[in-house]
Amino acid sequence: MRYDIIIVGAGPAGLFAAISAPKNRRILLLEKQEKPARKLLISGNGQANLTHSGSVSDFLSRYGKAGKKYIKYSLFNFSNQNLLNFFGERGVKFICTEKGKHFPASLKANDLLSTLLDEVRLKNIDLQLDSAVISVTKKENVFEIQTEQKRYKAEKVLITTGGKSYPTTGSSGDGQNFAKELGHSIVPMTPALTAVSIRNHQLTTLSGISFPTLSLTIRRENKKIATFHGEMLITHKGLSGPLILDNSRMMQQGDTLSLNFCGINKERFITSLLNDASHAPKMTLKHHLKQYNILRRLEETIVSLTGIELQQNIAELGKKRAQRLAELFTEFPCIVNNLAGFDSAMVTAGGVTTSEINPKTMESKIVENLFFAGEVIDIDGDSGGFNLQWAFSSGFVAGKNL
Ligand SMILES: Cc1cc2nc3c(=O)[nH]c(=O)nc-3n(C[C@H](O)[C@H](O)[C@H](O)COP(=O)(O)OP(=O)(O)OC[C@H]3O[C@@H](n4cnc5c(N)ncnc54)[C@H](O)[C@@H]3O)c2cc1C
Repeated sequence: MRYDIIIVGAGPAGLFAAISAPKNRRILLLEKQEKPARKLLISGNGQANLTHSGSVSDFLSRYGKAGKKYIKYSLFNFSNQNLLNFFGERGVKFICTEKGKHFPASLKANDLLSTLLDEVRLKNIDLQLDSAVISVTKKENVFEIQTEQKRYKAEKVLITTGGKSYPTTGSSGDGQNFAKELGHSIVPMTPALTAVSIRNHQLTTLSGISFPTLSLTIRRENKKIATFHGEMLITHKGLSGPLILDNSRMMQQGDTLSLNFCGINKERFITSLLNDASHAPKMTLKHHLKQYNILRRLEETIVSLTGIELQQNIAELGKKRAQRLAELFTEFPCIVNNLAGFDSAMVTAGGVTTSEINPKTMESKIVENLFFAGEVIDIDGDSGGFNLQWAFSSGFVAGKNL
């Protein structure tokens, strides 16, 4: 069977490209799973954090160094506001959290999917489910798409098969294989936006506790790699929350993550402790620590690791123990045992290399009439709605240019 356009993968990028494609074209959307956009349905715990507030310029810094320039055209052409308007005009209402995350007011990702599917029906786009594509080839200017059951031909092809994370949703790296067969280079894929497990995790009793503003320094072989600030969550096995997820692309097994629970450096912590000890010798450690507003359970856990009592007078501590306390409160060391794998990573870093895709059209620079959009490309954003926005924005640009 022959179509004008075949889109491989009915996730947010594929569905939105199909909707945005020129009218009066015969479009076939092939989806591997028995239901489309399974990853959209589990996004944001089923509530779908669709996008983030802020200007497009604010968005540019949220896709790592390499992404910044590449995403610019797509984001300016189809911004967060355009995305909210698209759904808003079709009856979906949104709420925005204090931190700028936009969710459907119903808190149901399915409201987004049903809106997209209504548009797909309205535009007479042929959506075939249970149709895993197994190869994409091009002969004499015509693409041949082979599924497990059928063979199709098309003038133009868009690959929107996603990354490799959460493979049970259908995205397992097929698109990158098709791209490679067609002559594209693939940036090695690694799990991104992942939690980390910690060697000899000493904070397990605090699992479930979140710290709204914490500072974290990544150290590798005693060298400081970077320092970040943000919200962090302690889990049973290690650390998570936006501070960890968003910066996991910079972490490696064996790195030390130094957590600062006080907001001042080690030297200032010691100076303050010794000052108080000389001016108020009867002051207890508990009293001294009050100035840092540290969660009581955390304070108890850290102090218990030193063998010191919270009721002890600080004048009796001595330099060595003051040093140890300062280390634990301002540079609490957590050694990365492992980063979570593709099974539980929220996105994939790596994919089809951006230098081989025109960011203004999403067309391949290597194969004419071949397009890419969404997570299949080497772009990954921070948590907070940036990945869905990229899928929709790049899907829009690809759709318009198909
Ligand atoms: C648990 C979780 C929570 C998330 N939460 C958020 C969030 O709240 N906000 C946010 O911005 N991002 C979130 N993300 C990331 C976001 O969901 C993805 O970045 C986004 O879905 C990517 O869209 P896509 O269309 O490029 O790819 P996908 O959504 O992965 O869609 C690809 C589609 O292609 C199909 N496909 C794959 N191979 C083939 C083939 N051979 N033949 C036919 N079809 C094929 C797949 O079945 C799938 O339907 C989350 C991800 C996860 C895993």
